[in-house]
Amino acid sequence: MIQEENIKIESLPKTSPLTIKKLKSLGINTYFDLINYFPFRYEDYSIVSKIAFLQPEEKITICGKIIDIKQNIARSGLKIQIFIIEDDTGKIEAIFYNQPYLLNLFKKNQIVSISGKVEKYGRKITLAPFEYELGESKIHTGRIIPIYPEKKGLSSKTIREKIKTVLESIIIPEILPEEIINFNDLIAENQAYQQIHFPSSKENLKKARKRLAFDEFFLIQLSSALVKENWKKERVNQQFVFDEKIKEKINFFISRLPFKLTSDQQKVWKEILFDLQKSSPMNRLLQGDVGSGKTIVAGLACYFNFLNGFQTLFMAPTEILAQQHYQTFEKIFSYLPDNEKPKISLLTSSKKIINKKIKEKINSDIVIGTHALISKKNQYQKVSLVIVDEQHRFGVKQRAELKAKGLNPHLLTMTATPIPRTVALTLYGELDFSTILQMPKGRLPIKTFYVPKSKRENCYQWIKNQIKNFKAQVFIVCPLIEESEVETMRSVKAAKKEYQALLKIFSGFRLALLHGKMKSKEKEEIMKNFAQKKFDILVTTPVVEVGVDIPGATIILIEAGERFGLAQLHQLRGRVGRNDKQSYCFLFTEKEDKNIVNRLKLFAKISNGSELAQKDLEIRGPGDIYGTKQHGFVDLKIASFSDFSLIEKTKNAINYFFNHKKLDNFEELKKRLSKFELEKISKD
Ligand code: ADP
Ligand code: MG
Repeated sequence: MIQEENIKIESLPKTSPLTIKKLKSLGINTYFDLINYFPFRYEDYSIVSKIAFLQPEEKITICGKIIDIKQNIARSGLKIQIFIIEDDTGKIEAIFYNQPYLLNLFKKNQIVSISGKVEKYGRKITLAPFEYELGESKIHTGRIIPIYPEKKGLSSKTIREKIKTVLESIIIPEILPEEIINFNDLIAENQAYQQIHFPSSKENLKKARKRLAFDEFFLIQLSSALVKENWKKERVNQQFVFDEKIKEKINFFISRLPFKLTSDQQKVWKEILFDLQKSSPMNRLLQGDVGSGKTIVAGLACYFNFLNGFQTLFMAPTEILAQQHYQTFEKIFSYLPDNEKPKISLLTSSKKIINKKIKEKINSDIVIGTHALISKKNQYQKVSLVIVDEQHRFGVKQRAELKAKGLNPHLLTMTATPIPRTVALTLYGELDFSTILQMPKGRLPIKTFYVPKSKRENCYQWIKNQIKNFKAQVFIVCPLIEESEVETMRSVKAAKKEYQALLKIFSGFRLALLHGKMKSKEKEEIMKNFAQKKFDILVTTPVVEVGVDIPGATIILIEAGERFGLAQLHQLRGRVGRNDKQSYCFLFTEKEDKNIVNRLKLFAKISNGSELAQKDLEIRGPGDIYGTKQHGFVDLKIASFSDFSLIEKTKNAINYFFNHKKLDNFEELKKRLSKFELEKISKD
């Protein structure tokens, strides 16, 4: 009965088309997909007990004959189904509530197995059932019972039953070499899948988890290692030179900047410059906390590219950011003599390539825009560098799009999201890393406070004084509301309402409103006016979250702080503290719940982004923190990033594999890898 694991879910025996449809809507299309739908917890009902020996509070399984069936109706209308079960030692009542269909399912004289908790009413002992099945225990009772997430109307019981069927009909092939299995003390692949769903003991469940977590890390790292290897074989379209003349120009450019580069900025610039002279394309992630000054490093790379006669595409996640980068670049290059300036253009998604002017823009030396820059039908001639701001990873899809245009540029991705080192190395093994740890000179840590409701008025008053006495500029961030289209409208509505309220609170002050649904011209205007201090307070939806740079702003007030992840809060806080003045961040919440308050207080205490990331990793595991699939984080199914020792083991295993084995000799591993990669692409 050994069948291919790739068998289509439609082949499941005794399964209704509706169930098939539900499974498919969960992304389960094959037997393999199904067995990769893991339980999220287990209930231990492995002790099978004779009825006469039951003790109150025990969680057990009994097996016996139904000798009587009753239904009582309580005064409240609640229907109670009572089954009297008998084995060779005694009798007990199993009491179900509101499940009248059981009266049709169970018949007198049938043998049933029921798992449940023993309860005591006065002198009488009864059974509160948790699971049941007809006949002896096979799937649902008498074991450590797997509990599955119930989605799309599929019950845990149905899923359990289907998975059992599959596991009984296939054998999952081994994917790893024997030496790796033995060295790491792993159980066989097939056994791991059997045990993760139907563990024969807690000990074996642990072993199954370890094996599957090992597989997960192994595949992630193998995939990255292969990408890296292939990447090295790629050749850039154009080779850069770094001769005396260019060196001199770059030094001149640096000397004209209004500030001195920090030594970290210089260090990462050197790393980038080194990569840019290679014949294989760069694939580098520049990490640096908010406000650490990544933009200027990107500017240097653009300038170097320009001096070599090539074009750069600079992509930002939002239009506001693209506009801002455009203005920053206009400024930093304004210090150069006219005939030596690169031509810079801004191309946002709201502008289509309809006229000559746009065509000209496409041919500028530096083209700044959102991701629409590459996904559009735009054709570029001389692009040899692509910079992506505020992302971890340039998607596989986007890269393919570039290649389809005949481009094989250097890639520089920049992010302020602090990724703990272990996570970064595991997940992004294909990237090289550059890190700016140091902040520009003279920056003061931002004083952060959690503000209880009772102090809200005082806080507003304090802010008013700061504006009056010190010309402070303030961001007020409205609550984050989920990002669907409908919700965006809701959040715009909420922001408008909040704005009206704030106009009253801050009457006599100059306020403006910014939200995602505004026209890009409007947004641009508002940001420009704010930068020029034409108003005091910018009320905004969280569109200002990433990257916005208003050096004069020193106060940020965040509403409904509980709705943001720590990393997001840190991004928001990074909108201030961008000069040598003392800046402040105030966190409000309507929910004065202990956990929320503690989390906000913890955030207030920690000013360093990577320390925050580490804390969050410890508290919650990686999924939520970054809260952001959009940033390209893989969801771990079984493994955990805090399992440092397993990460170390898998890393060693990968090294061993590359030194001693050929992937081509491992058919099953290759198949599994392509499944994994397909999944990754579909998430990009
Ligand atoms: P981020 O790394 O968050 O993208 P930015 O590049 O926007 O940070 O820089 C933040 C602010 O710091 C900008 O106003 C920028 O002009 C300024 N800045 C960058 N480098 C330095 C430096 N070496 N010294 C002083 N200010 C700097
Ligand atoms: Mg930035």
